[in-house]
Amino acid sequence: MEELIQQIITIDGPAGSGKSTISKNLANALGWRYLDTGALYRAVAVAADLMEIYDQESVGALAATLDIKIKTVGSLARVWLGDREITELLRTPGISQLSSTVSAYPEVRAALMGLQRQQGAGGRMVAEGRDMGTVVFPRAGLKFFLTAEPEVRAARRRLELLREGRPETPAEVLRLIMERDQADSTRPEAPLTVPEGAIIVDSTRLSLFEVETIMLGETGRIFGR
Ligand code: C5P
Repeated sequence: MEELIQQIITIDGPAGSGKSTISKNLANALGWRYLDTGALYRAVAVAADLMEIYDQESVGALAATLDIKIKTVGSLARVWLGDREITELLRTPGISQLSSTVSAYPEVRAALMGLQRQQGAGGRMVAEGRDMGTVVFPRAGLKFFLTAEPEVRAARRRLELLREGRPETPAEVLRLIMERDQADSTRPEAPLTVPEGAIIVDSTRLSLFEVETIMLGETGRIFGR
């Protein structure tokens, strides 16, 4: 039987590889939706932190009960826990590290699976994360793995933090990024890895424009758009 290919583009890669910006721009250029799955793991981390619950069993049980809503408005993924908007709380360095910790818990990943697949059900979506092409959307029509050297990713992340009014030293940003990459790539459940058939794009020496041009070229080839 022929495998059903989804009209979905997945972009996986390590922290600071430019996934968010590029996924949004690609989705905009195509008139498709955009799904930031990191924001969902961050939402679980925020909920756990607000409740001061940190052990695996309790966070896993908590994740299964959460009512997370996500909506992309302009270039921002806005997130709600029930009626409370938590967008402002998602991007602190503390939540970045905690989201990496809780994302290793199989119960947390299972709790978020339905929501992610539901978002992708209609196709015409660009989904970014760590396991988009490997686990959540294995039948996506086009898969990218976006990466760059750690120092370059750290420098980009530091700029982003600066713009958000959260200055950090270059060494500290690099340390945090390396710590998160190591945890995300070595966990037993859905580790960050290059999906089979994915196109690897190393943006170390490429501008945003160049990366987008490569990706739009591949999109045209696969989806005829
Ligand atoms: O992409 P972002 O940096 O916002 O993701 C935050 C964390 O959520 C990552 O470090 C990773 O541990 C986790 N994550 C994941 N699977 C995804 C997306 C994010 O495990 N699909």
